[in-house]
Amino acid sequence: MAADISLKQLTREVDKRRTFGIISHPDAGKTTLTEKLLLYGGAIQMAGTIKSRKANRYATSDWMAMEQERGISVTTSVMKFNYNGFEINLLDTPGHQDFSEDTYRVLTAVDSALMVIDSAKGVEVQTRKLMDVCRMRDTPIMTFVNKLDRDGLDPLDILEDIEKTLHIECAPLSWPIGMGKQFQGTYNIHKKQLHLFSATHGGRIQEGIVITDINDPKLDELLGQHADELRMNLELIEGAGYPFDRERYLKGLQTPVFFGSAINNFGVQELLDTFVELAPPPQPRQTTTREVSPYEPEFSGVAFKIQANMDPAHRDRLAFVRICSGKFTRGMKVRHHRLGKEIQIANATIFMAQDRTGVEEAWPGDIIGVHNHGTIRIGDTFTEKEPLKFTGIPNFAPEHFRRVILKNPLKSKQLNKGLTQLSEEGAVQLFRPMMNNDYILGAVGVLQFDVIMSRLKDEYGVDAVYEPVQTETARWVTCDQQKILDQFTREFQSNMALDAEGALTYLAPSKWRLDYTMEQWPDIVFHTTREKV
Ligand code: GDP
Repeated sequence: MAADISLKQLTREVDKRRTFGIISHPDAGKTTLTEKLLLYGGAIQMAGTIKSRKANRYATSDWMAMEQERGISVTTSVMKFNYNGFEINLLDTPGHQDFSEDTYRVLTAVDSALMVIDSAKGVEVQTRKLMDVCRMRDTPIMTFVNKLDRDGLDPLDILEDIEKTLHIECAPLSWPIGMGKQFQGTYNIHKKQLHLFSATHGGRIQEGIVITDINDPKLDELLGQHADELRMNLELIEGAGYPFDRERYLKGLQTPVFFGSAINNFGVQELLDTFVELAPPPQPRQTTTREVSPYEPEFSGVAFKIQANMDPAHRDRLAFVRICSGKFTRGMKVRHHRLGKEIQIANATIFMAQDRTGVEEAWPGDIIGVHNHGTIRIGDTFTEKEPLKFTGIPNFAPEHFRRVILKNPLKSKQLNKGLTQLSEEGAVQLFRPMMNNDYILGAVGVLQFDVIMSRLKDEYGVDAVYEPVQTETARWVTCDQQKILDQFTREFQSNMALDAEGALTYLAPSKWRLDYTMEQWPDIVFHTTREKV
């Protein structure tokens, strides 16, 4: 297979791909922005399509209803569209109540991210958490400050907030002129273009007025009193701000910032144009043995997300596989390295924004959905020949905990099997305390617990309930001196547990207690993430 690929074609396909996710706090405008982006890509014809899907999705957290919704949420998990010759894969990072470990893991499969900030709120908590995950791989981040049509914080204060809270330099590439009722538009510093705002804009094409000299009297004609204000602001940020530096952006040290209003489709095209120009194409990815370049002709891919049976009548699962190198062709045989088996991927799905169609071929940066019956786990690697294992898809320290209590003790075998399999799939994390036989579940988002309960019942015939536990957070612990680790384990034995893969975990009763313990035990390393084995 590999020999068939022309390197020229491979290079072309890699270079025109952009795979990214949007990070934001709920209500900042992620859905609205996504919809506008898809509009530019011609992937949807009408604004409002994504909206109604979302309304459905959040209407209920009931698992059966989620099952019915599944066809929809699967299509919206990966949205692929074309823009100006670029092939864009937008990976959905669910927020709100379905916020879960998936959200984090999806960010390990992107090459860059777009951060949406509400201009009235600045940096909010969910954004901060998602940013921490992006930082693990130094993911480049572009920022869109949204809702300029409303009164918000001073743009300079927003930049300062981003820099201070997220520890990243801001390089504004556009600058707003007024805000709220006074919002006049933006000046694109990067391209030296003025964009005038009208609330009824909404159109697809946004005309820019080119002003190469900021002292041009045309600016006063167009902006009136705001012209001098803009000049002053530009001078200010030129003196105080960071000039845009692509290298620093690509290293995740600097974020280019745009201002606009998603709902008015203002500033979106500007953002998209700059995004395809500056955002990185598919990047090399690390394995346990070497780095794999996307330009290598041999196919390789890694599973980063598993979605359970879409149709309750069929117990199949959909594994989301990111292509890391080479070309994927329908029906191709690949090696499933963890199982040491060759499998044929005949039944793959490629994600388009409108509907799902069978894939004929796919390239690095693309995501394919592979149907399976539980044979694929998160982190599983597929290649044509070379035995590889991609790294960088970790478990994340859970933030919510529950104890599982079985209603019918005769079903303990099924419970064990169910929880083991569900944790292998990545739906939840399972901890077994060292002092007793409890099953403690850990999750990043509470909705994961509801999902587990109904899946235990439907798929394993197990009736169980949850009990609260005295655990607020967890850390995987290691130490290069076994003696100290043993001492620690003895001292905290009632808080120690093994996770599903046997890794030693400290279940902390409170964040305060964790901090205190970390101070007391400087030789112990407390990990917030753990690589899957
Ligand atoms: P998400 O939760 O981040 O996906 O946010 P949504 O896209 O659902 O937006 C949250 C709310 O903000 C909705 O009521 C949107 O209509 C509104 N919104 C989004 N963009 C803008 C904007 O540019 N200006 C104003 N005024 N409202 C906006």
